[in-house]
Amino acid sequence: MTATPPDLSNSLDTRLRGRAAQVIPGGMWGHMRAAAVPTGYPQFFSGGEGARVRDVDGRDYIDFMCSWGPIILGHRHPEVEAVARAQLDLGDCLDGPTEHAVRLAEALVETIPHADWALFQKNGSDAMTTCVTLARAGTGKRKVLVAKGAYHGAVPWCSPSVLGVTAEDRAHLIYYIYNDVESLDAAVAEAGDDLAAIVASAFKHDLATHQQLPEEAFALAARAHCDRTGAALVLDDVRAGFRLNLGGSWETVGVRPDLAGYSKAIANGYPLSAVTGNDRFRAAAEQVFVTGSFWYSGAPMAAAVKVLEILARDDGPARLRAAGERFCTGVTDSAARHRFEVTMSGPPAIPLMQFADDPEAKLGEAFCQQALARGVYLHNKHNMFLSLAHTDGVIDTALSAIDDAFAALARSRSADAPARARSRT
Ligand code: PMP
Repeated sequence: MTATPPDLSNSLDTRLRGRAAQVIPGGMWGHMRAAAVPTGYPQFFSGGEGARVRDVDGRDYIDFMCSWGPIILGHRHPEVEAVARAQLDLGDCLDGPTEHAVRLAEALVETIPHADWALFQKNGSDAMTTCVTLARAGTGKRKVLVAKGAYHGAVPWCSPSVLGVTAEDRAHLIYYIYNDVESLDAAVAEAGDDLAAIVASAFKHDLATHQQLPEEAFALAARAHCDRTGAALVLDDVRAGFRLNLGGSWETVGVRPDLAGYSKAIANGYPLSAVTGNDRFRAAAEQVFVTGSFWYSGAPMAAAVKVLEILARDDGPARLRAAGERFCTGVTDSAARHRFEVTMSGPPAIPLMQFADDPEAKLGEAFCQQALARGVYLHNKHNMFLSLAHTDGVIDTALSAIDDAFAALARSRSADAPARARSRT
């Protein structure tokens, strides 16, 4: 099967990009900015259903980004849509929270072993910033340890960009290396008696970097440092939360945090984040002033209650793992058949795809373009996400297109090879 890239010159996507460039700086912002979207990928979408998304020009793709994480049950999951719609019909943004706030906090406390309470926000950045604020408020200390290269949000204390950020914004951050106990020990020593928090991601999922699961020795060391000093162990479960373990991603290594930030998958695409905490930080959570105009809206919380119910009922994490394993094995086997070396690192439900000897992910990009032309939406630098809508049938359809994409990449490699050989002579 061959697939020629569509002519996008007069597509709605191209026209929207042109209009956006006039009124939206850079044409788009943040991780969705035009320059960050792989060449040939659509920028604009019109809808999604199950495991598929549709771009504004009407092309459908099997979606392995799941909206960069939020979609865990599939786009527009009917049971979630029904409860969210019911609240939207009554009103979403009211003079106070709806009863869903209490139901959701109860559900989280029941589901997550470390949690004695929960607070809600909108974004992962809100949740992680709230965790740091609570850690400082609860300990009266200032230093916060974060892993080098880890992403915790796009706000001054942790944004990967230093543009518009002052040194003072990060004056009390100390960096360690994820999974490296010695570097953690050194950072704790540097903090002295001023340690407020150790912040750790659910697993190492830095952009375009081989992913690593947390090592038990590292997680235990972080826990022990916090127990000894009274600092808060803060788990950033924004990206991985509910996909790996409903009780929190470090349940897999038997370590419980004091505070944890969740977002992304919590409400299957509705805007919501949460901080869960234990009773040690309850007083701090009662006293600090953290809030936002939209942090109390009802429909996302109704959706989240339903998402948790479905994930527990349908054995979500185990099924996501199985789907991820089928996908990852299929991709690496297919790559090998076409003599490419591809690794899928990290947990199978949140895999990062990398080609060997491809430091800038250019080969990865060329491959993703071939897959896109065959109706499969992948990413060459960021980890991907599986959902419960990725049934065996959907994955096998995607894998068949992916096999064709590898074949096409192999053909372009052999077409290039003589040219490269000639240019060396
Ligand atoms: N922490 C992690 C681990 C994340 O992956 C993200 C988002 N990619 C954030 C925090 C920030 O979340 P948000 O983009 O919703 O602010």
